[in-house]
Amino acid sequence: MKTTVVGFPRIGENRELKVATESYFRGDITQEELVDKGKQLRRMHWNLLKEKGISLIPSNDFSFYDTTLDTAVLLNIIPKRFLDLKLSPLDTYFALARGYQGKAGDVTALPMKKWFNTNYHYLTPEFEETTEVKVAGTKLFDEYLEAKALGIETKPVVLGPFTLIKLATFNGTTEEAQLQGLITAYKEIIATLNELGAQWIQLDEPSLVKDISEEDRELFLTIYQELTADSRTVKLLLQTYFGDVRDIYADLLAVGVDGIGLDLVEGKKTLELIKTLGFPQNKQLFAGVVNGKNIWRNDYRQTLGILEQLPQEQLVLSTSCSLLHVPFSVEQEVFPEETAQHFAFAKEKLSELTELAAIVDQTAGALINEPLAANQQLFRSERVLENKKLARKVAGLTEADFQRQPAFEERSIVQKYTLDLPILPTTTIGSFPQTREVKATRAKFKKAAISKETYQEFLEGKIADCVAFQEEIGLDVLVHGEFERNDMVEYFGENLEGFLFSKNAWVQSYGTRCVKPPIIWGDVSRKRPITVAWSAFAQQLTNKPVKGMLTGPVTILNWSFPREDISIKESTLQIALAIQEEVLDLEANGIKIIQIDEAALREKLPLRRSDWYQEYLDWAIPAFRLVHSKVAVQTQIHTHMCYSEFADILPAIDQMDADVISFEASRSNLSLLEALNAHHFQTAVGPGVYDIHSPRVPSVVELTTTIKTLLEKIPVEKLWINPDCGLKTRGEKETFASLENMTQAASQVREALVYEPVRE
Ligand code: GLN
Ligand code: ZN
Repeated sequence: MKTTVVGFPRIGENRELKVATESYFRGDITQEELVDKGKQLRRMHWNLLKEKGISLIPSNDFSFYDTTLDTAVLLNIIPKRFLDLKLSPLDTYFALARGYQGKAGDVTALPMKKWFNTNYHYLTPEFEETTEVKVAGTKLFDEYLEAKALGIETKPVVLGPFTLIKLATFNGTTEEAQLQGLITAYKEIIATLNELGAQWIQLDEPSLVKDISEEDRELFLTIYQELTADSRTVKLLLQTYFGDVRDIYADLLAVGVDGIGLDLVEGKKTLELIKTLGFPQNKQLFAGVVNGKNIWRNDYRQTLGILEQLPQEQLVLSTSCSLLHVPFSVEQEVFPEETAQHFAFAKEKLSELTELAAIVDQTAGALINEPLAANQQLFRSERVLENKKLARKVAGLTEADFQRQPAFEERSIVQKYTLDLPILPTTTIGSFPQTREVKATRAKFKKAAISKETYQEFLEGKIADCVAFQEEIGLDVLVHGEFERNDMVEYFGENLEGFLFSKNAWVQSYGTRCVKPPIIWGDVSRKRPITVAWSAFAQQLTNKPVKGMLTGPVTILNWSFPREDISIKESTLQIALAIQEEVLDLEANGIKIIQIDEAALREKLPLRRSDWYQEYLDWAIPAFRLVHSKVAVQTQIHTHMCYSEFADILPAIDQMDADVISFEASRSNLSLLEALNAHHFQTAVGPGVYDIHSPRVPSVVELTTTIKTLLEKIPVEKLWINPDCGLKTRGEKETFASLENMTQAASQVREALVYEPVRE
């Protein structure tokens, strides 16, 4: 039985790639040193997979930023404005990813979007009129040859043309106009790898698990009929993940690829499809049975039960998706053995694959009995004790617990009167730059190198400076700056019962940004107030309102590794009850505005539209309402989302029943704003007026223009002015400059609004 993985984490066991890339961005290391680091990491990872006995080892799953961007660059899909910078290829690549502001010019980055239902983000390829698709890059081939030179035969991985088209934007050109060029380029890629002697090529086509229209189907067939027409010795693997391919399964079977990768973990219908519609004898079935997204051990008995129902001779055991979404290894952790044995990170999943393969093959005789027995033992016993009191509380929730009173219109009048904010109120999303100093001091405190008092004093100093700065530049609603937080989810998890924390379980979120999701180990409850002291401290420094800052239950769940022994709905309601206690404590301590971030609300939205409400929104939105349903009429509830793609779920967003919502807008188009109008969206909105994912500083003129554009679509009494997202990843200098420009722009527009009618 052969084994493979869809992809392997590239960031390195200790985030070496992040460290090196950021050093390069700062100018501390050379391009050559960075390239070398990449090489070193690839070698380590290939060797690890080899040692673990994985038969088909992927290559080109490595990336300096994002593999979708790699594919765009490979195919010469680089907008002219980036080429005009005339930077080195690597710097052009980073300019596409992060924007560029310097001697060569000033360009914003390509839009970044959520990668399907994960917390990974990809950069959106952009076709324009002058785009001439051709095989322009060599990374794919170089990395294949690099592995080969190390004595490792790999399976080069590249994003497939169907998904590339689905994810891309077309500016001044169309899909039809670009299609033939794309197909030709992919054919060339296949031909080149064929010549180089590759045995397998993996084309990733996750878009196939979504709802497929008749047009999509035709597009898919056109592409794959052409791609598979030429004779070749290299085998083509059409890899899908993140769900089942129910709309196009029959067509997949009909095209001339040599292997099909199917997700048997998230793909609820995958097994049924194979059993009812069959699987052709001339293809290999890459069975994604090891979960690439969660960190729990694979239940071998259950997996073997699935494998039994599949055509044995054609199987290759694989992961459900790339292991990019799980941390590197449990080995680095210090969990007690009883706990650790329940986890499998990327490295351990490799062993699961080879153990499962050996069990299926029955090759190793007695040797295989041991892992099987140990695995069965693990799943026989109850892992955690139930909190009975909490279970009763959750079961006893009624309609009224999920509904804030009075209704929005009535509240908004009271709030307008009590908060007394100017029109176009300015605010930020919460965090201020986490400087080296902040991180270093927190690290010292964690290591007990400084006392609790020293740490507290330090944080209070930071808060005081932050409040003073915000007053100075004239922001209207202040924040305390979130200096005490490492991460918006981890921080809450650490202060709630039921979470476990890893030391090093980092997962790439985008580019060099990694997150360390907490693990929901048991039932969740609040031990003590979490944020109240910080918010209250900041509030007594100023007469302006200070926003309390909380993370919402859906986001806490979605950015954690969830339990698999109870439903995610049940876990979310437990978290909601805990955060509700925090909301009420903030309110009792004089905080008038409370922001409950739901940055990750969309994360677990089913990829198929037809499942959105029933499977997800129908419980996720009420869980958010549960958090704020008991606050007083004058308390203003804000929420924040890190993206603007919710035109399609606007009614659900409105049903969150917040008073204000801020969201990302600067990197995406403004079409959402029209949708807000069309839906008579009631919540006030703060579409981000500048991109915080990039270090560039927007000018006052630029920001004034943006605000005016927003005002064309949004009634002035509903509009808030704020950046896209929290500022913690940014440097202080650019942040201060940007915020100052933002408040200036807001006051200029306000003045214009006041005086213009007079002049007329
Ligand atoms: N309040 C959080 C912050 O500013 C929100 C972050 C986020 O949306 N990802 O950091
Ligand atoms: Zn955000």
